[in-house]
Amino acid sequence: MAARINNQEINNQQFQMASLVSHPDEVKVVSRRFGQGATDIDRYLALDGYKAVQKALSMKPDDIITQVKESGLRGRGGAGFNAGLKWSFVPKQSAKPKYILCNGDESEPGTCKDRLIFEHDPHSVIEGVMIAGIAVGSHTGYIYIRGEYRYLSVIMQKAIRDAYAKGFLGKNIFGSGYDFDVYWHGGAGAYEVGEESALMESLEGKRGIPRIRPPFPAVVGLWGGPTVINNAETLASVPHIILGGADWYAKLGTPKNGGTRLFCLSGHLVKPGVYELPMGYNLKKMIYEVGGGIPNGRALKAVVPGGSSTPVLTVDEIDIPMDFDSVGKAGSMLGSGGVVVLDDTTCIVKFALRTMKFYRHESCGWCIPCREGTDWLEKTLTRFHNGGGLKKDIDNIQYLAENMLGRTFCPLGDAAAMPTIAFVKKFRKEFEDHLEGRPCPFEKAGAELAAV
Ligand code: SF4
Repeated sequence: MAARINNQEINNQQFQMASLVSHPDEVKVVSRRFGQGATDIDRYLALDGYKAVQKALSMKPDDIITQVKESGLRGRGGAGFNAGLKWSFVPKQSAKPKYILCNGDESEPGTCKDRLIFEHDPHSVIEGVMIAGIAVGSHTGYIYIRGEYRYLSVIMQKAIRDAYAKGFLGKNIFGSGYDFDVYWHGGAGAYEVGEESALMESLEGKRGIPRIRPPFPAVVGLWGGPTVINNAETLASVPHIILGGADWYAKLGTPKNGGTRLFCLSGHLVKPGVYELPMGYNLKKMIYEVGGGIPNGRALKAVVPGGSSTPVLTVDEIDIPMDFDSVGKAGSMLGSGGVVVLDDTTCIVKFALRTMKFYRHESCGWCIPCREGTDWLEKTLTRFHNGGGLKKDIDNIQYLAENMLGRTFCPLGDAAAMPTIAFVKKFRKEFEDHLEGRPCPFEKAGAELAAV
């Protein structure tokens, strides 16, 4: 029988795996305490920790919201909505308690940034949750961490305990008369729960499927109370904005896209890793200079700019600033900051299949276009890649995906459809080559598929 691994061992193994990378172009804001021992609360305090929340307690709540709004901080989970504007939707008066919910259910393939925040700077998330609470008049925060991040939950739970032990959480925080509690909640490993209303269902102990909206969480959220839901990186950015000021933060990025973000560079790169770069940093430069270019002298074929749900970009489309608006103009999305680089050995059909396999598996099955659409697309792409493809399949794949778009209950349907449409439109020739070069011109008889 295999030996049981305790949490500390998992912790140690993962620390070894997540070695930190760096590049001179980085602007370290959220990552400034990475590798500095800031999981220890005294070390965090020595590195300006919990100063921002004390400053926030001396500010008017509306001024906190205005500062975050003017900083141009946009949701780092993928949607890119202005965080301060989101907070401003919470009603001032409420018969029900208000809640702050940190979405740490980081599950988008290609994305591993919140992981580093939880691992190296958990108190910054707690502090961000507290400041959001003070801004909207909430006294309770939840930090929801994905099930697969078990070792990070250990770190976060300790951080919360340490903050209580110092009197930073609980009654009368920092002698202000304000009460604030923070709770940790672990997920059970479902991508779908990253969707904010499904996250609330899960937190309430129910099956993690989305809610009908409106009403929106800012008005009717967790247990029916007004709720702010922000991504972990978004909340970890807030203390820096409160200390550094909205103007400073906004100027780090591009207009309406303030600050920096953690970009997760993965795939065929010499130096993959998580780098903190200013919003608007050029994607081509990110690949060739920060990521060190493509290994083994291979050529670049394609880039997925913001996690698996974002439409692929071709080589001719990557000379763009990486902010929400510019990537949108280029026909894709900045998403969760997961930049996946593919070299010319990559079979796009197989990549499309692998992506669809993920979404079919993660579909909660509630609405038909997503449940049936992802299943049919996976089946068709599997047959196609295995050498059983017909010419009409290419149009059918696109047609199926287009008919899912905008017709599903939550964004997972779009997340599956959008990349598929882009793969077919931008790499149609590669699909056609699979007909001529049956089964897959990139592999011997598609034998590798069993391992997909
Ligand atoms: Fe579930 Fe997919 Fe429908 Fe979302 S789009 S509710 S994941 S079936």
